[in-house]
Amino acid sequence: MSKVTVKDMDVKGKHVIVRVDFNVPHKNGVITDDNRVRAALPTINYLTEHGAKVILLSHLGKVKTEEDKVKNDMSIVADCLAALQSAPVKFVNATRGPELEEAVKNEKEGEIILMQNTRYEPGESKNDPELGKYWASLADLFVEDAFGSVHRAHASTVGIPSNIPGCVGFLVEKEVEVLGGALNDPKRPFVAILGGAKVSDKIGVIENLLKIADKVLIGGGMAYTFSVAKGGKIGTSLLEEDKVDLAKEFLAKGEGKLFLPVDTVVANDFDNPTDTKVVEAGEIPDGYMGLDIGPKTIELFRNELAGAKTVFWNGPMGVFEKPEFAVGTEEVCKTLAGLEDATTIIGGGDSASAAKNLGFADKFSHISTGGGASLEYMEGKELPGVAIIPEK
Ligand code: AMP
Repeated sequence: MSKVTVKDMDVKGKHVIVRVDFNVPHKNGVITDDNRVRAALPTINYLTEHGAKVILLSHLGKVKTEEDKVKNDMSIVADCLAALQSAPVKFVNATRGPELEEAVKNEKEGEIILMQNTRYEPGESKNDPELGKYWASLADLFVEDAFGSVHRAHASTVGIPSNIPGCVGFLVEKEVEVLGGALNDPKRPFVAILGGAKVSDKIGVIENLLKIADKVLIGGGMAYTFSVAKGGKIGTSLLEEDKVDLAKEFLAKGEGKLFLPVDTVVANDFDNPTDTKVVEAGEIPDGYMGLDIGPKTIELFRNELAGAKTVFWNGPMGVFEKPEFAVGTEEVCKTLAGLEDATTIIGGGDSASAAKNLGFADKFSHISTGGGASLEYMEGKELPGVAIIPEK
């Protein structure tokens, strides 16, 4: 199964709407990380080089109030985009109406229009059919290239391609190919590493990966709910009491393939840890909280990862924002970076930041650009923005 891509389309002289992910981090009107803009360039460049009239649509931040609109004005991306490639960029400070329609009418082959933030339209997040139809009326073709948004059925991700022919761009094509490969036909052994704060955020993905992967390694804050399910003592560590029974279920289902931390780094206080030590898992003294996996767990995970041919990692092993509790996450990252002949996939979010901050970004086969979307994909859920694009 593969989706129709930009390469299958005759784009010359056509107006092509590209749903990109320009939801960049920014402060005081300055973009602090332009990776998302760079990630969209292969598709944009392909289109301009092949004579398309490109119209870029993206959301930026959350827009609920007039203040949010000022804060999340898409114009900050226009200069950045103009500096990163050679085609002319025209920013249109409107999401509908004569200014936008006129700009589209006057657009020439190889030019780019960047529209104002899609979320200025209240109908965007509700997938208002009228809005999807209106935006679609501006173009001949639609390209889905915002992987970070394909898990949302919005007017710009689903509404438009419900009205005009659609295809995926290079970024979404690669995401679907790599994540889909791991999910549907992984080279084995396939090892999943799941961390992060809460079991509740990862229920679907644990459930699905227990079925598909050969091993599932669990770290991070959610490991303590599993520890309680095994009768362990966890002090003041993160606990989701209402998920203890579910953790018991996972332990039973995952017998032999679910691996939990065997030791843990604990501290007396989250904000001001003056007393830090390593204790056995399930033996955390009262008044202490677990904030990272311990050295024996790092070794255990290293051994379980040896020889893996496919690895999917989502979620840090501890409170990696604090250097003293980042060791587990760093060591897992190093182990993955050192695996040979393995497809190593980072499912976006905090694990992606950790890999980049450690300077290991180029050591992985794939770092997903969509944390939420990659998790939903690994849960086995249909991604509406991908499902709407026809198969070849
Ligand atoms: P998530 O978004 O679910 O991947 O969770 C990421 C967050 O989990 C990060 O901000 C970490 O600081 C946090 N986290 C990881 N391990 C722990 C822990 N042992 N206790 C509290 N928070 C944790």
